[in-house]
Amino acid sequence: MDSLHFQCFGTGSSGNSYYVGHAGGGILVDAGLSMRHIRRSLKAIGVSMASIQAVFVTHDHTDHIKSVGALSTSFGIPVYATPKVHAGIESNYRVTQKIGAGKRFIQAGDSLELGGLHITAFPVSHDASECVGYSIAYAGKRLTIATDLGYVNHEAAQLLGQADYIVIEANYDEEMLRRGPYPLRLQERIRSNSGHLSNRQAACFLAENYNKRLKSIFLCHLSRENNTPAQAYSTVKEELEARQIIVGRDVEVIPLERLSPSKFYIFAS
Ligand SMILES: [Zn+2]
Ligand SMILES: [Zn+2]
Repeated sequence: MDSLHFQCFGTGSSGNSYYVGHAGGGILVDAGLSMRHIRRSLKAIGVSMASIQAVFVTHDHTDHIKSVGALSTSFGIPVYATPKVHAGIESNYRVTQKIGAGKRFIQAGDSLELGGLHITAFPVSHDASECVGYSIAYAGKRLTIATDLGYVNHEAAQLLGQADYIVIEANYDEEMLRRGPYPLRLQERIRSNSGHLSNRQAACFLAENYNKRLKSIFLCHLSRENNTPAQAYSTVKEELEARQIIVGRDVEVIPLERLSPSKFYIFAS
C-alpha cells in the first residue's frame, strides 16, 4: 500500500486523462478521452471503476472533460472542479452528458484528503474559464501535474519544485510552430502567457529548478503538428545537461504519447 501509482491514458488535443492512486484505488485527473478508452485503460491496469474516488478537472476545454458527465452519471463518480470550470462544463455543447449530482467544488489553493491521497489544486495561466493544476502526495511521494499553461507561475513552480515526479506540458517546438501550418493568430494564442508551454520553456524551467528529489519528468500535451516526442525530449535533455544534470543518471525524461497509454508506474517509497 505504500507505493504511488501513475499512468497517463493519453495526452494532447485529442484528449487527456491520468490515473493517480495506490493499491487501494485512486483518482483520475481529467477525463477528456472517450469512455471506452478510459475503461479499457483502467481494466488493463487492474483498476475497477468502483475504486475511482473522483475525477479532478484542470479546466473546461473539451480535451479534458469529454467524459466527466458519463463517469459521473453512469458510475456515480464525483467530479471536482472550480465553480467557473463547472459552469464552463455546463455550457460546453460538446459535453452532451452533464455531471448533475456528482458536482464537487474546489478552488485553487485548496487541499483535500481523498482515499489516502492528499490533493492540492493550484492556479495555472491558460485561456479556459479557469485552469488549475494538481499536486498529489501519498506515502511521502509527490506527483505534480501542470498541463495547459502559458507560463510557469509562482504557485505552479512551488509545487513542481517539491515533487518527486512531474508531469509538465511541452506543447510545441518554437521553430516548428513558426514554420508550421498554423495561422499567425493561432500561433500567437499558443505562445501567449495564457496559451501553452513550449519545449524550451518547460526545459528552462526544469533546468533552473531541478533538485535532487526529482526522479522523473513526464512531458505531456505534445502537439501533433508542432512537436515530436524526440524533439521535446532532446530540448529538455539539452537544457538539463547544460547544467550538468544528466538524463538517465540524475533524472529520467519521458515524453508521453498522445494516443496510447504510458507504462503503468509504481513508484516505490
Ligand atoms: Zn488541453
Ligand atoms: Zn486547454
